[in-house]
Amino acid sequence: MQHTKSKALYEEAVKYIPGGVNSPVRAFKAVGMEPIFIEKGEGSKITDVDGNTYIDYICSWGPLLFGHGSPDILEGIQEQLLKGTSYGAPTAIEVEMAKLIVEAYEGIDEVRMVSSGTEATMSALRVARGYTGKNKIVKFEGCYHGHSDALLVKSGSGTLTFGVPTSPGVPADVVKHTLVCEYNNQEAVKALFEEHGEDIACVIVETVSGNMGLVPGKKEFLEYLREVTKAYNSLLIFDEVITGFRLGYGSSPEYFGVVPDMACFGKIIGGGLPVGAYGGRKDIMEIVSPCGPVYQAGTLSGNPLAMYVGKKTLEKLKNNPGIYKELEQKASYLAQGIRNNLKALDLELTVTQVGSLVCLFFTSGKIESYEDVKDCDLEKFNKYYKAMLERGILMGPAQFEALFLSTAHTKEDLDVTLKANYEALKVAYNK
Ligand SMILES: *Cc1c(COP(=O)(O)O)cnc(C)c1O
Repeated sequence: MQHTKSKALYEEAVKYIPGGVNSPVRAFKAVGMEPIFIEKGEGSKITDVDGNTYIDYICSWGPLLFGHGSPDILEGIQEQLLKGTSYGAPTAIEVEMAKLIVEAYEGIDEVRMVSSGTEATMSALRVARGYTGKNKIVKFEGCYHGHSDALLVKSGSGTLTFGVPTSPGVPADVVKHTLVCEYNNQEAVKALFEEHGEDIACVIVETVSGNMGLVPGKKEFLEYLREVTKAYNSLLIFDEVITGFRLGYGSSPEYFGVVPDMACFGKIIGGGLPVGAYGGRKDIMEIVSPCGPVYQAGTLSGNPLAMYVGKKTLEKLKNNPGIYKELEQKASYLAQGIRNNLKALDLELTVTQVGSLVCLFFTSGKIESYEDVKDCDLEKFNKYYKAMLERGILMGPAQFEALFLSTAHTKEDLDVTLKANYEALKVAYNK
């Protein structure tokens, strides 16, 4: 497999773009490689500038639930395009989009569109703080909520801690209000609330974490978060940027039976265009400007092209509820196939799967928190990764990324992937 053109583009790119990429993971650094530049995508496949075609499990990191260039999602976009790409004034399609989200998601009465997941979570925090009049927020180690200052935080030493910035440029003064807790650890949350509960504006959580590999939240844990936030007049925010409209049309409230006060969206609801959204109960959302005093705005918010694709995506999901079962079946076929390969090769590694998300961890045992995944064998993973790529399988270039399945992935794609998986594991473990 040749990467000559990608290599040349990368050499040019690093002259003008930091690291040659517009988002760090794309640099392939974690797997010790150089980035692959993409020419086009079609269905479940993606083709690079050197003409190599791969079965794509990145799928734009989640948005492409129907694969690349889905004709029914893109149908009519040209007409929309020719009507203009942005107005800076409201449109009918924004209303329809908001209505679709509100009707699908239990607990959300109003929603505000933004342009990325980062903007959605950042804005939701401001609203939660404005609404409660409190400053502290709780997040969980290993959950990612975009790159705003308050959320670029990991736990310091000890279990009950104030966060420390994970990036230079984030002032300690800003993150002193961010408390970091172990995921799925009810006792740790309880202790945190006993000490700081009166000052906690909100808890933000990925109900299924897709940013430390794939770590499912436990139903009891989420139920506890609901209970404790209610008891302390704090808000519960579900970051559904990955899980929203992926776990099911009703997202996490339907999947787990737990209803948050606010939720954040991104990825799928833009179907591949730049979108985010945050919403909540009416009394919460009505403190947002211009109804209320909490300021939040955006030049391209509710962009007509993004709304067009987002609306088409949501409508397709709404009208075809069987899609979720189909995705689940495909993902469990893949997960089970990987488990069978592991067994045949006498390897003890853990595979997690929730809905259309799958992850193979290069470690064994239970996977419930960042603690459980942080010691994965990255050297073996990297060998595995390269061997998969050579066999035409494109996955997120890091251990801590999930495989994203789409309806475009066929059984044949999955069988090709499983064969590659078997061979790549053999390469990684010298079997
Ligand atoms: C991707 C992601 C974000 C950030 O979204 P961007 O559009 O990249 O800013 C936030 N939360 C979660 C759970 C995500 O996976």
